[in-house]
Amino acid sequence: MILIYPPVAKPSEPPAGIAKLCGALNHHGMKYRVLDANLEGLLSLLKTPPVSSDTWTSRALRHLSRHLDSLHGWDAYPGSRKFPGSSREDECAHRLAGMSPHRDVDQELRPLPVGLHQDDGRYRRAIKDLSRLLEMTGRSSRVRLGLANYQHEELSPTRSTDLVRAAENPEDNPFYPYFRKRLTELLKKEQPSIIGFSLNYLSQALCTFAMIGFLKQEWTGVKLVLGGGLVTSWMRNPYWQNPFKGLVDHLVAGPGEASLLSLMGVLQFGDNHFWPNYDSFPVRDYFAPGPILPYSSSSGCYWNRCSFCPERAEGNPYIPIPVEEVVSDLLRLVDRHKPVLIHLLDNAISPSLMKAISEHPPGVPWYGFARVTRHLTDLDFCLALKRSGCVMLKLGLESGDQAVLDDLQKGINLEEASSALKNLKKAGIATYIYLLFGTPPESLIEARRTLEFVVKHHDCIGFLNLAIFNMPIYGPEAQQIETKTFYEGDLSLYTSFDHPKGWSRPLIRQFLDKEFKRHPAISSILRRDPPVFTSNHAPFFVMKER
Ligand code: SF4
Repeated sequence: MILIYPPVAKPSEPPAGIAKLCGALNHHGMKYRVLDANLEGLLSLLKTPPVSSDTWTSRALRHLSRHLDSLHGWDAYPGSRKFPGSSREDECAHRLAGMSPHRDVDQELRPLPVGLHQDDGRYRRAIKDLSRLLEMTGRSSRVRLGLANYQHEELSPTRSTDLVRAAENPEDNPFYPYFRKRLTELLKKEQPSIIGFSLNYLSQALCTFAMIGFLKQEWTGVKLVLGGGLVTSWMRNPYWQNPFKGLVDHLVAGPGEASLLSLMGVLQFGDNHFWPNYDSFPVRDYFAPGPILPYSSSSGCYWNRCSFCPERAEGNPYIPIPVEEVVSDLLRLVDRHKPVLIHLLDNAISPSLMKAISEHPPGVPWYGFARVTRHLTDLDFCLALKRSGCVMLKLGLESGDQAVLDDLQKGINLEEASSALKNLKKAGIATYIYLLFGTPPESLIEARRTLEFVVKHHDCIGFLNLAIFNMPIYGPEAQQIETKTFYEGDLSLYTSFDHPKGWSRPLIRQFLDKEFKRHPAISSILRRDPPVFTSNHAPFFVMKER
């Protein structure tokens, strides 16, 4: 079996979904190979001179290896400075001796000067030049290509007919020269009976189908399996009908371990939790100063109440791994791969897991999504999180208006949010705050309250993500509001709607561009955001070199 992660997705860390499949296959002694065609494909295109060039592109190509080196080292990341007297070995020794892994308490507890004295020029230049090279390479295929972007001028990843077209014409894909050679060599050598694709983002869809089309033409007889987050969302649509018959042999919704194992003839596997396995990935080659280890301690969401949440709309159940197993998984994975950062992928890390990690630190920095809960209003809890290695929490605040939050059933109290932000700052944990504009209960008045809240807490906010609300197409709320087709595709996950307060997308954009983003306290937060990689690289902007 060969498991493939197709282009294009941020190439900063190995794909966690495939690592879980590897864990399950290993457990049952199955042979497999992994191909991160995203990382390899992007590197291959970056090294191929674009057909047409200009001064900027030629210079970007000349500086390519320097840019790649700087993204693989620490110096380009503005937050990173050598932490005197600290090393991973120090921490492990403390951990093994049953002590908390803090080093110099003064340094540890001092809030990092996020955004101050930062020189991110090298980082930004590297990202700009790499993006330029990809953009110029994609042009001849009519694709707007980037490190996390793939937009075809005509073909849409939300139309099944366009995905089938991409499969019928794989040679039109800019990655074709790479994957034709790579897949041909790999298939000749491995002679697999099954090839699985993990499709998680819209930016991967057209390339996935181009690769599927190539395999279908050249390697008849190999079973093609397609799973991943995006495929799961498609298949959760109550009106789903498979438009890829004859092209894909098996489509898998949800975790793919059971389906793959049964395809391989393993029918008895219980409900085991399989350890993710990263042995087959080039963990040091990703665009980061060292290996990032993604880890998911649950699927679904323990809160699962926010109205308009896609997780909830899709009916994905909350399935956590017991916290003791998570703690031991993390220790084992850290020991094996020596990551510089753990990325917890949960939709919301549960307070019980945060507590367990505080008591049994993994020995390396970590970050992830959490909910704003009363736990974060306890300074000691935040300090313990910091000592356990927490460098950043991503928090879905969504709004600075209490009535909007209540209507969305976010379970967030703004006074608690204020206290949490202040405590996290005191503890030295950076925050990446997610705001959502244009939800049905919001109007300009409430959006201005969000602006006020952010301005009032600007010194506690490390980074900001601003999004305009999309209505999940099959959620219960979409049935109650006048909706229209949004992306005009049969695979669209969202629908546009008539906002009950007339707070339409053009008005929201105008407010964001002319008012919200222009506020000096907010614009300086927005300027900090790492381009393209955003929250995936933000921890490196606030943490020290290990
Ligand atoms: S916390 Fe996040 S994932 Fe959980 S229900 Fe709310 S929006 Fe959905």
